[in-house]
Amino acid sequence: MSKLFMQVQENISLAEHTTLRLGGLARFFISVHSVEELREAISFAQKNEYPIYVLGGGSNVLFSDMGWNGVVIQMSLLGRSYDEDSRGDAQVVACAGEIWDQLVEETVGQGLWGLENLSRIPGTVGAAPVQNIGAYGVEVKDVIDWVEVLDTTTNRLHVLSVTECAFGYRDSIFKHKEGSAYIVLRVAFRLSTHPSRRLEYKDLYEYFGTRTDVSVKEVREAINKIRDNKFPSLAKVGTAGSFFKNPTVRKSVHKELESWLDAPVPCYIVDTDHVKIPLAWILERLGWKGKRLGAMGCWENQPLVIVHYGGGTAGELILFARTIMKEVQEKTSIKIVPEVNIVTN
Ligand SMILES: Cc1cc2nc3c(=O)[nH]c(=O)nc-3n(C[C@H](O)[C@H](O)[C@H](O)COP(=O)(O)OP(=O)(O)OC[C@H]3O[C@@H](n4cnc5c(N)ncnc54)[C@H](O)[C@@H]3O)c2cc1C
Repeated sequence: MSKLFMQVQENISLAEHTTLRLGGLARFFISVHSVEELREAISFAQKNEYPIYVLGGGSNVLFSDMGWNGVVIQMSLLGRSYDEDSRGDAQVVACAGEIWDQLVEETVGQGLWGLENLSRIPGTVGAAPVQNIGAYGVEVKDVIDWVEVLDTTTNRLHVLSVTECAFGYRDSIFKHKEGSAYIVLRVAFRLSTHPSRRLEYKDLYEYFGTRTDVSVKEVREAINKIRDNKFPSLAKVGTAGSFFKNPTVRKSVHKELESWLDAPVPCYIVDTDHVKIPLAWILERLGWKGKRLGAMGCWENQPLVIVHYGGGTAGELILFARTIMKEVQEKTSIKIVPEVNIVTN
């Protein structure tokens, strides 16, 4: 029998591996540091017919109070490399378990443009394409070159192009049936050595005004300051960031909403027929900003961020979120959906 590299832990608290600090136990928990360990963990699960859940930093998942009756595989593969591409820009390749913000800090420190607007997003590199993380006018798909995956059904490695990843708003192939067997191993980014500022987002525009000479380090500093004011400290409360997606609606729905509320409703153009409405604006209008019910609440500076003040359960959070979803639908006729991955089995 071949030597086992991986360590299988049993009955591990998922609350301790998620930033919401909620959820029951993982029957088996395996932290993998290499592709070999990952293959072993998959084979262990498949031989025993245990379902697999792939975990990064746990900053966008809510496990139920029943936990995960199967194998949770935590991606801890590390490694980063830098190369120059044919245009003189940088190609940066990072393994799935790398901490996202450490990569951003490092690339910004090297004067590379592309990741700075995505500063301070918690979590790992491997989850970034899964969620197509986005902030301050940039989505990670804008700078991804390719994504290397392991197909758990064939045990083979594949390199997916940006088109094959089918990125959308907090969406990608990995969140759908066609990509559900893929585990992200490495992500390659195309970063520019020349300034390519993305400062049109309201908060950044207000911060820098009409300045055109802003450095990449200054953009990161600005984002960090803006985020410090907007998000709660993970050291103090549990949260997974924005709990819901901003709804995309037909322009006619947006117009109706304006006439019901008898007020202009902010929106961003998506295409000729659709706009995206900042849900925080609706939640504030409905009185959710800073509202607390038991152990759960909507954050005082950003109501889209649900916080767990401690001592609560996943069930309570789900109930809290459902209450918000119901009220938004009743008062605006808009159906909202969670951005956070709610996991049950
Ligand atoms: C305070 C706070 C602020 C946030 N701000 C933002 C923000 O501005 N923009 C934004 O987009 N998000 C934001 N988030 C959400 C979160 O940080 C991102 O979604 C992040 O990418 C999640 O990374 P993670 O490693 O923690 O993933 P997890 O939470 O561990 O997993 C998220 C999903 O990805 C899957 N997954 C993880 N790793 C892999 C892999 N290697 N292969 C395949 N599937 C995988 C999981 O199965 C799960 O479905 C915020 C969260 C918090 C707590």
